Amino acid sequence: MRKCLRCATEMVEDLDVKVEGGVYGLKVTQQGIFKDNLGKFKCAVCPECGYSEIYVTELSKVKKLALNNKKK
Ligand SMILES: [Zn+2]
Repeated sequence: MRKCLRCATEMVEDLDVKVEGGVYGLKVTQQGIFKDNLGKFKCAVCPECGYSEIYVTELSKVKKLALNNKKK
């Protein structure tokens, strides 16, 4: 459960983030053109104040990146 950072109301989660006018979602990748797809953005919106945040659900690849960054 996500709570709004502004007003602590329970947020509505798992909403899709899409480009307006298109059916395409947004994805997260490493920098560079042909890098690995790291996951899809999801969105949570606070029903009280409208504050919204974007998050990634599949974190295994991102966790790997974080480990690699620590080694550097
Ligand atoms: Zn709120």
